Amino acid sequence: MAASAPPPPKKRRIGVMTSGGDSPGMNGVVRSVVRTAIYKGCEAYAIHEGYEGLVNGGDMISPMHWEDVRGYLSKGGTLIGTARCKAFMERPGRLKAAKNMILKGIDALVICGGDGSLTGADKFRSEWPSLIEELVKAGELNAQDIEPYKHLNIVGLVGSIDNDLSGTDATIGCYSSLGQICNAVDSVFDTAASHQRGFVVEVMGRHCGWLALMAAIATGADYVFIPEKPPSAGWEDQMCNIITKHRSRGKRRSIVIIAEGACDENLNKITAKQVNDVLANRLNLDTRVTVLGHTQRGGTACFYDRWLSTMQGVEAVNAVLEATPETPSPVITIRENKIERSNLMDCVALTKSVAKAIEAKDFDRAMHLRDVEFSDYFESYLMTISTDSPKLRLPENQRMRVAIVHVGAPAGGMNPATRAAVAYCLTRGHTPIAIHNGFPGLQRHHADQPLGSVREVKWLDADPWVNEGGSEIGTNRGLPSDDLETTAKCFELYKFDALLLVGGFEAFAAASEIRKGREKYDSFKIPLIVLPATVSNNVPGTEYSLGSDTCLNTLLEFCDNIRQSASSSRRRVFVIETHGGRSGYLATMTGLAVGALAVYTPEEGINLHMLARDIEYLRENFRNDRGASRAGKIILRNEKASETYTTNLIADMIKEEARGRFESRAANPGHYQQGGKPSPMDRIRSLRMAIKCMEYLEDKFTGVTKQACADDPMSAVVIGILGSEVVFSPLGGPDGLEATQTNWKERRPKSEFWFPMRDTVDILSGRPKADDTCHECGKVYVDNRLGPVISRSS
Ligand code: ADP
Repeated sequence: MAASAPPPPKKRRIGVMTSGGDSPGMNGVVRSVVRTAIYKGCEAYAIHEGYEGLVNGGDMISPMHWEDVRGYLSKGGTLIGTARCKAFMERPGRLKAAKNMILKGIDALVICGGDGSLTGADKFRSEWPSLIEELVKAGELNAQDIEPYKHLNIVGLVGSIDNDLSGTDATIGCYSSLGQICNAVDSVFDTAASHQRGFVVEVMGRHCGWLALMAAIATGADYVFIPEKPPSAGWEDQMCNIITKHRSRGKRRSIVIIAEGACDENLNKITAKQVNDVLANRLNLDTRVTVLGHTQRGGTACFYDRWLSTMQGVEAVNAVLEATPETPSPVITIRENKIERSNLMDCVALTKSVAKAIEAKDFDRAMHLRDVEFSDYFESYLMTISTDSPKLRLPENQRMRVAIVHVGAPAGGMNPATRAAVAYCLTRGHTPIAIHNGFPGLQRHHADQPLGSVREVKWLDADPWVNEGGSEIGTNRGLPSDDLETTAKCFELYKFDALLLVGGFEAFAAASEIRKGREKYDSFKIPLIVLPATVSNNVPGTEYSLGSDTCLNTLLEFCDNIRQSASSSRRRVFVIETHGGRSGYLATMTGLAVGALAVYTPEEGINLHMLARDIEYLRENFRNDRGASRAGKIILRNEKASETYTTNLIADMIKEEARGRFESRAANPGHYQQGGKPSPMDRIRSLRMAIKCMEYLEDKFTGVTKQACADDPMSAVVIGILGSEVVFSPLGGPDGLEATQTNWKERRPKSEFWFPMRDTVDILSGRPKADDTCHECGKVYVDNRLGPVISRSS
C-alpha cells in the first residue's frame, strides 16, 4: 500500500535553495524570493543546506515567513546553508528529493548556485516525469498524489564569486569578491611602494580569469595570468621586460596577479611561487607571494550584489509564475544594466565549452566564448601596460591632441578614467592634455608659464591614479559660458583636436554650450565626448555614471553601521539624508540595498498623508517585531525631497508620534558619501568606457575637417549604458539628448530608468502603498506594482 502525500496546498509553494560554493548576495536572493512569493500570493519554503536538504527532507525543508528574512541583506555567506551533496549526483538521491518535494507540496524551485548546481537542477527537471512515475511504481506515492505535481518548475540564479557562467555579465557575488581582492591588493600596493617590492598575488579562478583580470585592471597590476589566455613560451622574458620598463620609468612597486588556474600554452600549471622565483632570480627583486584564499568568498555583499540579488530574485518568482510546461528552465542573467532570462542549459553548456576549449588549447575560442566584453577588457588592460610599445603607434598624420577636463563635483572613477584615456593616447601616439581645475582653470590660463592649467600628461603621473578617489587634475562647477570667448581662444591656442569631458550634469551642460558655440567659434568644431561621472547618476543618455557605485557602497556601509549601533537600545529609527541633487537615484538604490522602510525622493515629494502612513507602518513594524530584530530601522530622504519636511523635522515627527514606543534620530553622511577609493566596478568601468571613448574618436574623426565635424550630430555625444548596451547618444539635433531627454530645470533625465524600482523597495520592505486603501470607503485596491498578483496575501 502506497504512503499518501498530504493534499496539495491551496497556495502555490515555491522553494528557494542556495547550493555549491557560497557567495555574497545569496541572502539577498532568499529575502527577495521569499517576500516576492508572499507578496504574489504564494508560500515560500527554504531548502536548507542545498541539495542535502532536498534529499533528506523533514525539517530541512521549512516554511519561510515575511519576518524570517529580516536583516538578510546585510549578512554575508548564506543563512539557509549550502553544501556539496554527493547523493544528488545519483538517481536514487534525486528520487528521494522528488518525493520530499511532493510531500512538502512544492512544485517550483528557485536555485541559486554555480554551474554545478544549475546542471543538477536541469537534470532534476528533465528527469522529473520519470522520477515521479518511479515513485508510484515503487509504491512510495499514489497516482493521485503526483497528479498536481506533473510539471516541475525550475529557475536558476547564478551565485558564484568567479563570474564563470557564460551568458551573463555578472554573477551574484563576483563584485563583492573583487572588492575583497582590491582591498587586499591596495594594501599590498602601499607596502610594495614603500619597500620597492614586488608582489605576486594569487586569486581564485580555476577555469575563469575574470577575478584576476578585473583585479589587475582595478589595481594597475604590471602583469596578469589567466587560464583563458595563457602567455606564450618565453613569458618569463616578456614579464621581466615589462616590469623592468615600468621600474626604469620610476615605478616603485611591481604587482603580478595570477589566477589559481593559470597555465602556459601547453597547459602546464604556472604557480605563484614560480612567478615569484622568476622575479627574484632574474630581476633581483625583493618579491613576496600573497595567496588570498577564502577571504575572497567572505564579507557582506557590496551594493551591486545586493541590487542584483534583489532584482533577480523578483524576476525568478515572476519566471516561476509565468512558466508553462513547455517553457525550458530559465536562468536569470544580466546584460549591462538589463535583467533578462536565458536558457539555463544553453548557458551551462556554453560555460562547459570554455573549459573544453582551454583543454583543447583553443585559447582564442575560450576568450571568445567567455564573452566579447571579456576580451575587450583584456585588450584594454594590455593598452595600459604597453604605453611605450612602438608597434601600436599610429602614423604622425593620424595623431590627435586630446584634451581632458573634469567638470562638477568629484566622483570616484574620474582619476582611473583619465588614466585610461591617457594610456590609450600614449599607446597610440596621441597627445593627452589635462585641463586643470575645470573650465575656470582654462579661462585663467597662463600660456607663458610652464605649469599653467593646460598640461601634457606623462604616464608616470597618471599611472598611480588607478585607485585614487577625487580628481587629481582638479574639477570645478564653472561652465564655458562663464567666459566663452577665452574658452574658445584657449581651444585654439592649445590646438585641441578633441575634448573628453568627465563629470556629471555640469559636464553635460558644458558640452552642450560648446556644441552650440560652434556657430561662432571655429575652435569648438572638434569632437566632444561626455563620460558621465557623478554620484547622483543624473546625466541624460546613461543609466550609470562613474562614481555612483562608489557612493552607494559608502552609503551602504554607513547605513549598516548606524543600524548596528542601535542594537543595544533596540527600537530606533534613523532618518538618513542622502546626496543626489534633484534625482532620487541614490536614495532609492540605497533603500533597495539596505531594505529601508521608506525612501523620500524629489520625484515623488513628501506629504502629510505619506508621513502619517509611514509612521503608522513603523508602529506596526515595531509591534510585530517583538524584540526579534535588534538592529535599527532606516528611512532615507534625498536632500531635496521637500523644502518643508526636512530630515530633522521628519525625525522629530516620528519621535513625537512614537509616544515613547520607539526613538528616532536624523543622520547626515554629507561629503563622506563621495567615498574614498573608487569601487572596483567604478575602476573597471572607467577603463572600459574611457577606452571606448578614445576608440570612438579615432574611428570616426581621424582626418575629418572641422566643418564636417560640426555638421555631424555624432560629434558631440554622451557615452552611456542604456539597457543592455553601451551607446553613444548625440547631444544636439531634433532627436538628441538635449531636446528629448533632458529636464533642464530639475537637472536630471526626463525619464529615469530606476523609477519603477522604487516599487520593489517598498514592496520588499512591506511599506503600504499610498493608494492601497481608499480612505473614505476602506476598499482595498489590487496592488500590481510587481506585475499581476495571484491573490492578495493576508
Ligand atoms: P557550484 O554550484 O558552485 O558549481 P558544485 O559543482 O559543487 O558547485 O555543485 C553543487 C552541487 O550541485 C553538488 O554537490 C551536487 O549536489 C549538485 N550537482 C552538481 N553537478 C551535478 C550533476 N551533474 N548532476 C546532479 N547534481 C549535480
